Amino acid sequence: MSALSDRINNLSESQTIKMAKLGRELAAKGVDVISLSFGEPDFHTPEYIKDAAKQAMDDNFTYYTPVAGYPELRKAIVKKLKDENDLDYDVTDIVVSTGAKQAIANAVLCLVNPGEEVIIPTPYWVSYSEVVKLAEGKSVFIKTTVEQNFKITPEQLEAAITPKSKLFMFSSPSNPTGSLYSKSELEALAKVFERHPHVYILSDEIYEHLNYVDKHETIAQFDSIKDRVVIINGFSKAYAMTGWRIGYTASTKELASAFDKMQGQITSGTCSITQRAGTAAYNGGLAAVLEMREAFKKRRDLVHSLLTEIDGLKVNLPEGAFYFFPDVTSYFGKAFNGKTINDADELSIYLLEEAHVAVVGGDSFGAPEYIRLSYAAAEDKLVEAVKRIKRALEQLK
Ligand code: PMP
Ligand code: GLU
Repeated sequence: MSALSDRINNLSESQTIKMAKLGRELAAKGVDVISLSFGEPDFHTPEYIKDAAKQAMDDNFTYYTPVAGYPELRKAIVKKLKDENDLDYDVTDIVVSTGAKQAIANAVLCLVNPGEEVIIPTPYWVSYSEVVKLAEGKSVFIKTTVEQNFKITPEQLEAAITPKSKLFMFSSPSNPTGSLYSKSELEALAKVFERHPHVYILSDEIYEHLNYVDKHETIAQFDSIKDRVVIINGFSKAYAMTGWRIGYTASTKELASAFDKMQGQITSGTCSITQRAGTAAYNGGLAAVLEMREAFKKRRDLVHSLLTEIDGLKVNLPEGAFYFFPDVTSYFGKAFNGKTINDADELSIYLLEEAHVAVVGGDSFGAPEYIRLSYAAAEDKLVEAVKRIKRALEQLK
């Protein structure tokens, strides 16, 4: 009998992390693996941010931090939300966490009671449904497809809401699809939420700056529902700061003090040096972010032109983030060397073993008909990776 709790036994391993690990293991054996599995910018953290961290160490800024973050950092976040998003928040509405991942966990654990329903459009980011399990909530999925650009309609949302609904969770720009909701699309969803005042909204905006068509729009801009919105954001993607572990929530004070209490029992405040780095990042403007965005946009266009040459893939043009999420069902039931591909997870293992390219199967994103490719890699690697994928897919008969 396992000594482990049902809680951990029922939890799935993060597939993004698992595929990245498998890719690294194969690379350690000397195989030339190209990893398109992990959602991580391949850029270095900008110098001015690292300088602030070095200075923090020299200043002995190395003590326990306030659980919700230092006031200077939270002030910088409030200013960012005003300047970039035209949203009004106070310093006490902000809770800084050890990554946006912890911010999401805080929100779900503080809002959802056992048995309450959490509405999640598919495809969703892998950790959403798992955190809901930890809270003993019930995930209710709304299916979207590549044909609808992976966006739900107000009618789909309305149909999913019940008296037991507590939270709606989504990301825009989206991981894993790169789709983003326009202002009018968000307004139409907000109108549905107006009619259901018992439903809270977790709006994950961590890819805000990786938007290739327009300025970022947030569902928190609609005053009629703003007090039920928890904004999730962070520094990992915009400022290439994945290893620093810093993210945050913006919400009502009541929710913020709940997140503070939860975090105070689990991790306390995030790293002091990281907080100085985060403060410098926001106070330093957007030049570095915009430079990285241009590079990502170029890669998106490149990969899109290469993927559309592969007949068996159904692919759209994502408007944000750094992922493609092609439908791969045309390969199901096909085989190579006596091995049949039955689903997208098997296809991702096949691509790793046969093409030496790591991607992630769609199952853990709630969309088993798809695979996810991250284009957060150098252009020559991307060209080579898609060439290898094409060759391996053509071998399937
Ligand atoms: N939300 C989404 C949609 C993500 O893709 C990620 C990826 N890391 C996170 C949250 C968590 O980010 P962080 O590194 O800040 O924990
Ligand atoms: N968010 C990234 C991804 O989707 C990083 C992995 C993770 O944090 O799970 O690949």
